Amino acid sequence: MEKLIITVAPTGAWPTKENTPYVPLTPEEIADEVYRSWKAGAAIAHIHVRDDKGKPSMEFEKFERTVKLIRERCDIIINLTTSGGLDVTDEDRMKPFIELKPELASFDAGSMNWMNTAVFLNPPKFLETLARKMKENNVKPEIEVFDTGMIYNALYIAQKGLIDKPYHFQFVLGAPGGITATHKNLLHLVESIPEGSTWSVVGIGKYQLPMIYTALSMGGHIRVGMEDNVYLAKGVLAKSNADFVEKVVRLAKEFGREIATSDEARKILCLKCH
Ligand code: ZN
Repeated sequence: MEKLIITVAPTGAWPTKENTPYVPLTPEEIADEVYRSWKAGAAIAHIHVRDDKGKPSMEFEKFERTVKLIRERCDIIINLTTSGGLDVTDEDRMKPFIELKPELASFDAGSMNWMNTAVFLNPPKFLETLARKMKENNVKPEIEVFDTGMIYNALYIAQKGLIDKPYHFQFVLGAPGGITATHKNLLHLVESIPEGSTWSVVGIGKYQLPMIYTALSMGGHIRVGMEDNVYLAKGVLAKSNADFVEKVVRLAKEFGREIATSDEARKILCLKCH
């Protein structure tokens, strides 16, 4: 079976210091957590930033500083979000990857209702521009799929020549408003993507662990971190994002699956193919 790529998503847009004092919010805190997670076995870091009040943000300077601090310390693959922050313009969403040229950036392949907050807006025109800008800047889209129809959306844009093969999908299961986190649903998503694609899975909250087990056995890759879940076990907060990475490494070892380094992940995801 292919080596396992672990992505760490240390911050996200939602958890606050009230939810968990351990969530990293400043560029310094985020870079520390990414470095610890990389040492524990994470090959990719999916980065969101916050403004000075701790609110989700697409503030370019925060991305710039965070990426600089990470790059000074390790060779982890950087994956920048394009969706952090409310009331941001399309330009705000794209500027960090255009300027900082990470190897990956998230491509949320459709709109959905975040049932606890707002509409997560990714209209067709924006997705087309997003794909075009990523291609121009040699940034590989991590196609985030919150529901089955989003696979169709991504392939529709790919057929226009705007996303290169092999495609890389990040399936997000158990988000409020997205597809539910069941084995059957994950299997259906995996069977719906083109042959030769790579895929990883995120289980939100209590679904993190069942999705980890399923992905391990199906040969998929795994994302963990406080963006998706702040509890390491029932009622026990993770003290660091590296705790989640260590847990996955432990489970993978028991299962007999090796962990991919960042360079091995570059090969698996074909990051230097184009
Ligand atoms: Zn994210």
